[in-house]
Amino acid sequence: MIKLENINKTYNNGSPLHVLKGIDLEVEQGELVSIMGASGSGKSTLLNILGILDDYDSGSYYLAGRLIKGLSETQAAAARNNMIGYIFQSFNLISYKNAVENVALPLYYQGVARRKRNALALEYLDMLGLRDWAEHMPNEMSGGQKQRVAIARALINKPQIILADEPTGALDSKTSQEVMNLLRRVNVDMGMTIICVTHEQSIADQTDKIIRLRDGVISSITETGLGQR
Ligand code: ADP
Ligand code: MG
Repeated sequence: MIKLENINKTYNNGSPLHVLKGIDLEVEQGELVSIMGASGSGKSTLLNILGILDDYDSGSYYLAGRLIKGLSETQAAAARNNMIGYIFQSFNLISYKNAVENVALPLYYQGVARRKRNALALEYLDMLGLRDWAEHMPNEMSGGQKQRVAIARALINKPQIILADEPTGALDSKTSQEVMNLLRRVNVDMGMTIICVTHEQSIADQTDKIIRLRDGVISSITETGLGQR
């Protein structure tokens, strides 16, 4: 599903910063994987490369068998739209749109008619237990509710992969647990591959495999045993 071979990434504003140093990684279809590491170890950089939000300098990235390198902006946007859903720590909802409009946004960009996209968005909100919140604005919702709206938005295109950068970082521990339960449900019920950056061991322990980044290299890969279910 995902294969990285000897990926290197250097930031070149000011003095060069070699952030990823020869990353090799494989993630299989249907895995729920976490990426851990200290602040500044390159977790978000790695996730952004996986998400085709940023380019890498050398090595190879294969996504579903296709080499992701030197894509035009149009090709990259198409690949993102078709294959990847994103979840962020800060939810990234549009503040002046209600829940259903936020969830429907990816379909809006694809030119899907309003009735159709709102009907589908409502189905996803329902699945995430937010049927009664469809007309509410983000500032009327709790952090956990906002993250569920963001998860619905990430799912609506039926992507093959969900990439989540510290999805529970802004939530209390009970709500974090609810969000992790949801991600596991999406992983099991929909067979979705999920890669989740976290700095919390208790979150990582709930994934199938823990990848530890240290100073730009993978220092360990631990199977938790949950992937064997
Ligand atoms: P993490 O997510 O593990 O905290 P990041 O991938 O965000 O780490 O960052 C890794 C290193 O790269 C940090 O030292 C950070 O300051 C630096 N960095 C991240 N993004 C940029 C950028 N766009 N330009 C320059 N340096 C960056
Ligand atoms: Mg980060």
